Amino acid sequence: MQTFGNYINGEWVTTARTFENRNPANTNELIGHFASGSAADVEAAAAAAAVAFPKWASLPAPARANYLFKAAEILDSRFEKVAEEMTREEGKTFPEAKGEVRRTINILKYFAGEGARLSGHLVPSERDRVHMFAIRKPIGVVGLITPWNFPSAIPAWKLAPALICGNTVVMKPASAAPLSAWRIIEALHEAGIPKGVVNFVMGSGGTLGKALIDAAPLKAISFTGSEPTGKWIHAEASRRMLRIQLEMGGKNPTIVLKDCDFNAAVENVANAAFFSTGQKCTATSRAIVEDEIYDRFLAALVERTKKLKVGNGMEAGIDIGPAVDQGALQTILDYIEIGRQEAGAPVAGGNRLTGPGYDQGFFVEPTIFAGVTEDMRIAKEEIFGPVLAVQRASSFEDAMRLANASQFGLSASVQTTNVSRVFDFVYGMEAGLLTVNLPSAGVEYQLPFGGTKDSSFGPKEQGPAAFDFYSDYKTVYLKY
Ligand code: NAD
Repeated sequence: MQTFGNYINGEWVTTARTFENRNPANTNELIGHFASGSAADVEAAAAAAAVAFPKWASLPAPARANYLFKAAEILDSRFEKVAEEMTREEGKTFPEAKGEVRRTINILKYFAGEGARLSGHLVPSERDRVHMFAIRKPIGVVGLITPWNFPSAIPAWKLAPALICGNTVVMKPASAAPLSAWRIIEALHEAGIPKGVVNFVMGSGGTLGKALIDAAPLKAISFTGSEPTGKWIHAEASRRMLRIQLEMGGKNPTIVLKDCDFNAAVENVANAAFFSTGQKCTATSRAIVEDEIYDRFLAALVERTKKLKVGNGMEAGIDIGPAVDQGALQTILDYIEIGRQEAGAPVAGGNRLTGPGYDQGFFVEPTIFAGVTEDMRIAKEEIFGPVLAVQRASSFEDAMRLANASQFGLSASVQTTNVSRVFDFVYGMEAGLLTVNLPSAGVEYQLPFGGTKDSSFGPKEQGPAAFDFYSDYKTVYLKY
């Protein structure tokens, strides 16, 4: 069984201590042993990144892009294997994993292409014979901390814009699914990226996160993960005045109006609430349904949900894999218990799955609570699992009020054929990412991504907006 090392200053580095990564669909299956880095490893990685920075920053961006294009090609040559490993370490189904690896490859290519388009500003001066312009420059050494739920796409959408802008990086992946990110680093290594430009340290979030924030060369930190960790990073990193970007939790609503395309709305809510085991940051966790169609919609949604097949994501025909680990499963089961006390018995699901094919994994039924009210914890707190709270709204205005009654504002969706309602939703909904007649989850990399309220802090990720975080301006006034 392979031991996967950290990557520091262009070398694969093993550690005395390692941690295991096991398949959440079958914990008898060991994916590998992974280096468990220390604070000293993070310091070494940050020092290497600082040494590599001037040369990397002075390389023209299209030349930096060549490494990303090459890494994308290398990943593509291993497409099926990398996707299979993702299913085995994270639990999402094989088709979902293939979709994510394809997205990772496209993200690398997209930002590589942007290398030839990194624009600044050129505007006319009020003064005679003065040429004035602003050019982009990199920030320096950037720390990247990523979660397990999109274990390849999120590392890619932080790494690629950071590198193309000329920064050097230290990345810390989530311990529940480190191999998918490791494969990107491996591809960059094989693409010949200069030593020290990319560094990768695995291990405890608390230890490595603190070491990263304290590392002297660090200039910025981009984090995706839970809200409590994000708030802690904000407090710690602000003391040093690091540039910060935080993408955190959600409690995403889908509003279902009486004039919706009914069958499509049922499908969209089932998809957004339960696929990837509800472990997408943009998953729907509240369905807010207009009174007139509430009963019919709930009945159809329950029927659809009961047909979803839960199991090992490598098997054909499976819709939903396991929770990522024992801790995530326990959180989901705890919230189902809270839901029972608050809203009564669930109208679908509600149990851990047991028996052959399930006993060695963290499987739970997709679960629906009906008649949920806004004061209940299952309507307010992020569960991050396949648990949906269905709320009744007396009107569109009431639905909007309920949808906005949240500390979070990541994604939101409306299902309607009324164009005025669509625009009322677009302008009135407090969320960073909106969908209309689509699932609330499922984004592309070409547009800005991120939330509002307690879901996010700092500039948006992805699309052209990614450069707002990973670069700075230098403004020049020149008399000729
Ligand atoms: P998490 O906060 O537990 O961990 C995220 C990362 O932070 C991991 O790499 C972890 O090791 C590290 N970490 C833990 N403690 C740390 C500390 N004290 N300092 C620095 N780093 C630390 O989150 P998770 O369970 O991996 O991910 C699930 C959460 O991520 C959910 O809340 C979900 O909504 C959120 N998420 C948000 C987005 C988004 O774009 N808004 C996307 C995906 C996931």
